Amino acid sequence: MSPDPLLLILLDACRYDYPDPGDSPFLWGAGEEGLYVQRLRPGYGFCEIAEMLTGVEARRSGLFCQMGYFEDAEISPALRLAVALAAPLEERGGPFLRECGRSLLRRVARRFDRREVYQIPARQLHRFGPTEAAREYREPLAFGIPSLLDLLREAGGRADTGAFVTRGRIDGPDEDRVRRLEELANGKEPLPDLTLAYLGNLDAAGHRYGPEAEGLRASLRATDRRLARSARAFLDRGANVLVVGDHGMMRVHARADPLRAFAEACRALSWKAGREAFAFVDSTLCRFWVREAGDLPALEAELEARLPRCWGASPPKGLVLPEPYPGAPEPEAGVPSPGFWLREEAAERLGAPRGDRRYGDLAWGARPGILFAPDYFNLGPVAGMHGYRSDLPEQQGLLLGLGPSFPVERRTSCSLVDVAPTAAGLLGLSFPGELDGRNLRGDRALLFEVVRG
Ligand SMILES: [Zn+2]
Repeated sequence: MSPDPLLLILLDACRYDYPDPGDSPFLWGAGEEGLYVQRLRPGYGFCEIAEMLTGVEARRSGLFCQMGYFEDAEISPALRLAVALAAPLEERGGPFLRECGRSLLRRVARRFDRREVYQIPARQLHRFGPTEAAREYREPLAFGIPSLLDLLREAGGRADTGAFVTRGRIDGPDEDRVRRLEELANGKEPLPDLTLAYLGNLDAAGHRYGPEAEGLRASLRATDRRLARSARAFLDRGANVLVVGDHGMMRVHARADPLRAFAEACRALSWKAGREAFAFVDSTLCRFWVREAGDLPALEAELEARLPRCWGASPPKGLVLPEPYPGAPEPEAGVPSPGFWLREEAAERLGAPRGDRRYGDLAWGARPGILFAPDYFNLGPVAGMHGYRSDLPEQQGLLLGLGPSFPVERRTSCSLVDVAPTAAGLLGLSFPGELDGRNLRGDRALLFEVVRG
């Protein structure tokens, strides 16, 4: 007997405490119908899709940030030309010309380099490339280590990723993906063994409005209806459905500007930012590199003097925030620092990879609730963010398992890396190597074997 088909829905940024009888009746009720894990803990980092599909954490997979520095990175001649045209507009033009330049870069990069440029400055583009999103997820070994899609392909199974994201890019609204799922489920063909789906509206609304705002509740109501339609369509055809809220969302309390501190540090050293040293800023992590290794101590010293004071427009008066990582040293009296150095101890406690130059010669992380702005991904400041220490409840998602393989069961916690082995188990597959995650149904299946045996 072949296993039941599986629909795996990534419900981006569905925080553990979002289910609510009024705003999300499906999510709320589903917890009573199958497996409901109240809190799912992601790793520390930005590559949730890799974690979810490989079952391996960033510290071992090396997939940590969406974009990394590549010494031998190349851009196409077309993009090089676009950079030459766009860079002066970006550096010296007004908002309109700047947007013309960005639009050109965006189009050329998608067409010729099959990549996104986000808000990365034109002249820095050639240094940075995507890490987890470099390839189509269904291409063999797209993550560099086996994923659920690799296992399925090797077993001769069929996967549908048409309602998922590809190369870190989300095409079209959630509604389009839900329609595609309904078409699949209502068609005459047998269901694919594995269907991957992505609903991103909650993430977008959480960033835009913040996790406690009314705008988020509106998104929750719409997302819950779409989730219900998708899941029911597949459940009606005898499929299992896994719903993964991959991480949470934290309200942004204040902003900091590490790029400004970096520019000041370069000026103090009589360097040109982008030449002797360069930086990449994510919303909660800023990374720095030097061209000559011998320059590192000088940069570090200058940054050390400036980063702890790089508060943005919002004054930190009376602000009390969690420590940046478990067991962090007590802060000194006075105004706290908006961030922390991601060195040995912090990396170890948080689970970040170490000694990987893609992620910086130096890295500085945000304290929970602090947003680095401007950054290289967002056009303007946002009200909600994730990417902090993941032992905080606000950073955690949830997991639901519905369908024939899921008796009613409630658990308190699991990890994002448990999804891959659990999904593999449902499909009758198993990963060849050692994983960080475990099959959430493993103990149950074993028990069943013992009882039968
Ligand atoms: Zn997000």
